[in-house]
Amino acid sequence: MKKIKLTLATVLLGSAVFAQTQCVGLTKDSVQCKNQVKQGQLCYLHNPNYVKPSENETVICSGTTKNNTPCKSKTKHSSGKCHNHRD
Ligand SMILES: [Zn+2]
Ligand SMILES: [Zn+2]
Repeated sequence: MKKIKLTLATVLLGSAVFAQTQCVGLTKDSVQCKNQVKQGQLCYLHNPNYVKPSENETVICSGTTKNNTPCKSKTKHSSGKCHNHRD
């Protein structure tokens, strides 16, 4: 009897996991995506309508270094300059 109860619990637990929606998208290996989805059927990786919740776009700093070469630092600051070249 104990064994049966255990099996039942496992089944219940298993169905609880499956109650969450799994992304229906496929990975590059043609395997179903394992991401869990709260809304819809596609995770943010597979949803073409997904918009990243980013505030400012990351840009390359427009400043120049002391060697007169363009700064390669990335920044999200609205000035377009990294923290070394601001102010
Ligand atoms: Zn996905
Ligand atoms: Zn810079």
